[in-house]
Amino acid sequence: MFKRARPKPEKHLPYFQFVKGMKAGACPVCGAVRSSLDDWFENLLYESANDRPLRHRFDAEHGLCARHAHRLCASNDGLGAAIVYRNVLEATVASLSRGKSPPLNEGKCVACDQEADAETRYAGLVADFLDESEMRAGLEASGLCMPHFAAVLELVGDPPPWFLERHRSVCEALLSVLVRYIDCQKLSTEARKAALSFEDEMAWKRLAPLLTGEPI
Ligand SMILES: [Zn+2]
Ligand SMILES: [Zn+2]
Repeated sequence: MFKRARPKPEKHLPYFQFVKGMKAGACPVCGAVRSSLDDWFENLLYESANDRPLRHRFDAEHGLCARHAHRLCASNDGLGAAIVYRNVLEATVASLSRGKSPPLNEGKCVACDQEADAETRYAGLVADFLDESEMRAGLEASGLCMPHFAAVLELVGDPPPWFLERHRSVCEALLSVLVRYIDCQKLSTEARKAALSFEDEMAWKRLAPLLTGEPI
């Protein structure tokens, strides 16, 4: 048994939803954060006109950071996006009319805070229930991205060996494929094709999701 850094709460609905949503090969914390942010954006676009504190902050920060602004524009809710961004664009036009630089978001936004809250919540949930059989089986199949692995590790302090080994071995296996892939570039096209499978050729695509997390 490993030592718990946190008191263990009762299993609750978010735990069961989290475990049910785990998929092989995809970080479940990234997935849960993404779906929590989907709900938040839906609410922002639907309710935003009525939420004065949120609107005030949104306008004061000149909208969303680049990543979340693109996320908003990918949402298919044109009317909601137009309404929440109207003041920001008006301020931009006013600045330009006075020959001034446009007000810019400085890289942090209200959606960043929502995302950070959800990450803390779901990393905490993994840490709290790490030794439950459904959680372990789910994590053995899915694995965590490295940022979420690090977040859970910080919370549990003294993790079970399987948890470390699961993530170490995935990184080591990817490294070994990439080293082989690099070495095979010296070979003729035919010899390279014989030495590398299609998955081996494409393994480098797993670097960003593994090392930085999946797109939220
Ligand atoms: Zn993740
Ligand atoms: Zn943001």
